[in-house]
Amino acid sequence: MGEKTYREIKVARLLGGGQLVVPLHEISGSGNGPKVLMLAVVHGDEPLPIPAFRELVGEIEPGAMKGMLRIIPVANPVAFGQFERMTRERHDINNLWRAFPGSENGTMTQMMAATIVREAMEDADYVVEYHSGGAGGRIQRRVDFDTETPPDLMRTCRRMAFAYGAGIIHQVRIPEGSPVKYALSKGKPAISVEIGGAYLGEAQNEPFVALIRDGAKTLLGELGLLQVERKPEEKQLFFTQKERVEANPRNGGYLLSRAERFEDLRKKVTKGEILGEIFDPFSFKEVEQLRSPEDGYLIFSRVSGPVEAGEKGFAVAKKIGSMWVANGYL
Ligand SMILES: [Zn+2]
Repeated sequence: MGEKTYREIKVARLLGGGQLVVPLHEISGSGNGPKVLMLAVVHGDEPLPIPAFRELVGEIEPGAMKGMLRIIPVANPVAFGQFERMTRERHDINNLWRAFPGSENGTMTQMMAATIVREAMEDADYVVEYHSGGAGGRIQRRVDFDTETPPDLMRTCRRMAFAYGAGIIHQVRIPEGSPVKYALSKGKPAISVEIGGAYLGEAQNEPFVALIRDGAKTLLGELGLLQVERKPEEKQLFFTQKERVEANPRNGGYLLSRAERFEDLRKKVTKGEILGEIFDPFSFKEVEQLRSPEDGYLIFSRVSGPVEAGEKGFAVAKKIGSMWVANGYL
């Protein structure tokens, strides 16, 4: 028993004549169990969860599942259609990551949030929000959980973060208005998964897509929806906001990255080590070197290509204070 359904929930009719919809996949299992919501493309330029979700939905047998899994592959179709982080509309509240719980008669962005809350989040027991590196060229493999959560709720969030097995776990303040923060305010355990990048090419995408898909399965196993063999890695890197330091471009230019593969994330770096070099695309002169500010581990990186002044470059978890933790520790 159990079934898979797909529907498109109407949000609004647009000026250009098109219909704005939010896509929703639902897999109902054959027995009672929790309801889990996974939503991606909260930022419109972070598409990598989409192919992973496609595989996940294809592989799950409803008969072998308990409870319900809801998947929204594209939470902000407007921003996605423009391949931009936020919705292009004439209003300040145009970042879906800051618009929850939304409003039925607010901005387009708030209407999308309200639709997601009404149709998929209100009665969910757990919420998983997805991000990936976006148009800026960053690559990621981590799970964030919120630092301001009451202890009982935080314990469940930590357990979910570890179960996902992304390899890097970050305790960080998650902003108001995000799906995770709103879910937490309603007492629902919630985490933010950020894995992969945009337009990396198939060979580079493969390990990221597999991690998104397999991590989701392991988490669903942990939450009692699926029987899963996979266990998260023995040791994962855990750090808080205190340990996080960054090396970002002060100047625009063409970046040559020295860390642009899946395997580069979590690698050991030493203070002063060059992570990337930026040259002027007009004169070809070197304009800047991006160096690791501390001894530690690379926690996000970016691929070679054009960068703008003030964009994100590389981030390092300081060796002092970061921990390699085993399951059960968190
Ligand atoms: Zn994002």
